[in-house]
Parts: sequence; structure tokens; C-alpha cells
Amino acid sequence: MESVKIAVEKDATGFPLCPACKKPTKRSPGAASQTLMYFPPIIDENGINTNPDRNWRTEQWTCLECGKTYIYETNGDEERIR
Ligand SMILES: [Zn+2]
Repeated sequence: MESVKIAVEKDATGFPLCPACKKPTKRSPGAASQTLMYFPPIIDENGINTNPDRNWRTEQWTCLECGKTYIYETNGDEERIR
């Protein structure tokens, strides 16, 4: 599935901003979901998990200022707004 990727801009608390307003706004959460793949930990010689949980968490938000509904997705490594 192709989607337009927009750089994720965040407020001071690390929360993704409305991609239309590009500033902190009031917002309301919608549906959230998460992929459920199992990532068995693989610990290297330095005690670092080289196979961290990379499930995608998807959150839907509605900006109460402009009315846009946007989707924020992250797997702890990558993130995107669409
Ligand atoms: Zn907005």
C-alpha cells in the first residue's frame, strides 16, 4: 500500500503534531491497534537485545482545531504520519 509520507513533527512532549496545523492543538483519540508479531529476543555478547519488539502501533487522532483525522504509526524505530 502506497501512502504519502510526511516527516513527523512533534510537540515538546514528543507527541506528533497535526500535519495540517503543524503546532500543538487539542485532539481526540480514535481507534488504536497494534500488529501482533512475535519478536524473540536475541541478546548479543554485550547484553543488548538485537531483535527488539518491532510491532507497529497505529493511533488515530482527530485534531479539534482543523478537524483533520490523522494516523500516527510507530514501531519504536520508524514512525510516520498519514
Ligand atoms: Zn489540525
